[in-house]
Amino acid sequence: MIAKNAQLVLLAASVAHSWAVPPTLSQRRPTLRSRQLVVKGGTSGAVVERPPYALSGLERPTHRGAVMGFLHNTGAWYALSAAYVAAALKQLQPSSFYPSFLRIALVAASSYSIYISDCYHNADKRREGVSEEGELAVLRKDYLGISLILSTNTWLWAHNLGGSPILNKLCLAASVCTANVAFQSFCVVNKYIGHVLIKLTFATQFVAILGTLCLIAAKSPISACAWIYAAYAPGFVIYATKFPKNKKWGYHEWFHISVLMGNLVSMGFDLGILGLFKPCAEGVACASLASRLTFGLLP
Ligand SMILES: [Zn+2]
Repeated sequence: MIAKNAQLVLLAASVAHSWAVPPTLSQRRPTLRSRQLVVKGGTSGAVVERPPYALSGLERPTHRGAVMGFLHNTGAWYALSAAYVAAALKQLQPSSFYPSFLRIALVAASSYSIYISDCYHNADKRREGVSEEGELAVLRKDYLGISLILSTNTWLWAHNLGGSPILNKLCLAASVCTANVAFQSFCVVNKYIGHVLIKLTFATQFVAILGTLCLIAAKSPISACAWIYAAYAPGFVIYATKFPKNKKWGYHEWFHISVLMGNLVSMGFDLGILGLFKPCAEGVACASLASRLTFGLLP
C-alpha cells in the first residue's frame, strides 16, 4: 500500500513537472559555435570553457559528457555489452529466439543511448561540431534511447518473472509508449507539446509500467527488480527536479550515472537468474566463472 502511494506521488510529481518546467528551447543564436575549446588564462591551470548548446543556448558544464565520451571512445560499454550477451547466450543453451532477442535488445538500447549521448553532449569535440540542426536530430534520437532502455528492461524482466497476462499487458503498454516517443520525437518535436508529451510518456513508463512490474516482482521469489528500480530511481528524480545544478558536474551527469548503474544492475541480476554465478553461490571454485567471463582464456 505504501509502495503504491509512493508510486502515485512520484507519478503526480512528474506529471506536474512536465507541464511546469518548459523545455528550455529557444531560437536564440548561440554565441559560440566553434569546435575548438576556448582556454582562459594560459595553458597552466587553465579554465576550459565549452561552447553552449545550440538550441537552448544553455551552458555546457566542464565535464558534461565525460563518462559517455569515455565509454564510447574506449569502446568499454560496447565490449561489456558484447561480453554480457555472449555470457547470457551461453547460459541459454539451447538458445531460443525470444530470450536471446531480449538480451540483445537490452544492450542495443543502452549502447545506442551511450552513442547518442556522446553525439549530443560532446558535439563540440566531435567532427560534426555544434549546430542547431545537428543537435535537434540527436535530441530526437536521445529521447528514443531513454524510452528504449525502459521498454527493454520491462520486456526482459516481465519474461524473467514468468510472463503472466498482466506482465504481457505491461510489455504492450511499454511498447506503445516507445512508439509514442518515436512519433513525438520525429514528427512533433521541436514543438513544445512534443517535449511535454515525451516527458509524460517517460513518467508513465518509469513510474506506472516499470513501477508496477517491480511491485509484482516484490511479491515473487525474484527480488532483483527492486534493486534495478532503486538504481534507476535517483536518475528519474534528478531528471525531473533538475537538481543539483553545478558548473562542473550537475544533475545531468548524475542522471547518466544512475542510468548506467541501472543498466549494470539489470545485466548483473539477469546473469544471476540465468545461473552464471551458481558455481560461486554453491561454494564451487569460481575458476569456472572466471573462465567463462574471459571466454576460456583463463584456465
Ligand atoms: Zn544526456
